[in-house]
Amino acid sequence: MTRPTEPTTPARLRTDADLAEDLCAFVDAGPSPFHVVAEMTRRLDAAGYRPIAEEDAWALAPGDRRYVVRDGGSLIAFRVGRAAPAEAGLRLVGAHTDSPTFRLRPTFDVRRHGYRLAGVEPYGGVLYHTWFDRDLDVAGRLLLRPAAPGAPLESRRVLVDGGPLRIPSLAIHLDRSVRTEGLKPDPQRHLVPVAGLEDDGGPSLLEAVAASAGCDPDAVLTHDLVLADAQPASLAGSAVRAARLDNLSSCHAGLHALLAAEDGAATAVLVANDHEEVGSGTAEGAAGSFLDDVLDRLVAATGGDREERARAVRRSLLVSCDTAHAVHPNYADRHEPSHQPTLGGGPVIKSNANQAYATDAASAAGFLAACAEAGVRAQHFVSRADLPCGSTIGPLTATRLGLPTVDVGAPILSMHSIREQADARDIGPLRDALAAHLSG
Ligand SMILES: [Zn+2]
Repeated sequence: MTRPTEPTTPARLRTDADLAEDLCAFVDAGPSPFHVVAEMTRRLDAAGYRPIAEEDAWALAPGDRRYVVRDGGSLIAFRVGRAAPAEAGLRLVGAHTDSPTFRLRPTFDVRRHGYRLAGVEPYGGVLYHTWFDRDLDVAGRLLLRPAAPGAPLESRRVLVDGGPLRIPSLAIHLDRSVRTEGLKPDPQRHLVPVAGLEDDGGPSLLEAVAASAGCDPDAVLTHDLVLADAQPASLAGSAVRAARLDNLSSCHAGLHALLAAEDGAATAVLVANDHEEVGSGTAEGAAGSFLDDVLDRLVAATGGDREERARAVRRSLLVSCDTAHAVHPNYADRHEPSHQPTLGGGPVIKSNANQAYATDAASAAGFLAACAEAGVRAQHFVSRADLPCGSTIGPLTATRLGLPTVDVGAPILSMHSIREQADARDIGPLRDALAAHLSG
């Protein structure tokens, strides 16, 4: 089932239930970072934002609404403020478009023991056991062989849906130790999806991928393809159950916030990077130059120079938005006793003494001011002193650019599972706090 997705305006999404339905539609529309960015640009187009290319010369005026895409999977959208960045600073929200998954290898059609298999490698911190016995789609982009030497390459987004792949678990009878010693799959040998049987007459996976792109298999030059849960997102009471809530819940909230934010003196920026789950060390990741380059050009295109950029950065605040751990009822001892965010308790501010999160007193105060303005209650997360802490795009961006940064996010259960759980009552407050921040 695919939900209809429509251009959205804040007025249409007044209630938590409306917004949760829309989050489900957003997640279902985004099985790969390329699809996420396409869905974000579709909504930005509908709201009057216009594309601008990195290859072109930029001239910007106050009130201009633009977005720029790098390599298909990363996006920066901005609304130019009334005042110069050096005077009013920038209000930024950051998120990431990728999620833990499996990536198809360059040659992925494999045949073994009478089966047709798909050659994959894990992408990011996959919670392996959750991927067994699920119906899996294939999504991403293809680059097509140029029609003539030197002709521009054509990129096509593809989705092979209906769950053609499945990673079968091993029967309990063939390894009873799994009950006592846990599942320890070897990703090379045990996490190979089955596409069918060699004699079932079905198309090869390459043929299926090419068919979904409307081209011949021979026309496929290269690809970036990942696996995605075929089960649509669903609501049960206030529970939002879906794939990729880390971190499409933040892309969704950040996008709604940008579209709902009032025109202000400060320039409002939404940055959504690919490759966070693998460390962000790419040209379009948070450790790359994308935001750096766009900040340079934003300042220059509004008449500023290098000094004005430095002044602008120190007057700015980046709210880095990524999901947070809600307290788990069956593993509550894994949480710091005085910091146990609850589902439905509001956006979470994440802190870490070793700076795995960029939050400090000043940046947390900045986000709390936005929460107060929006009438939103925030929660705090810090990990146990005897447990290592995760990290996100916040510290990387703060380190590269010198931007004051706070790490926040919606509380969820089952982070990095193929199917996570959020709460409808957290989505509106997160959107409202981010919108208040961007309205400065
Ligand atoms: Zn994340």
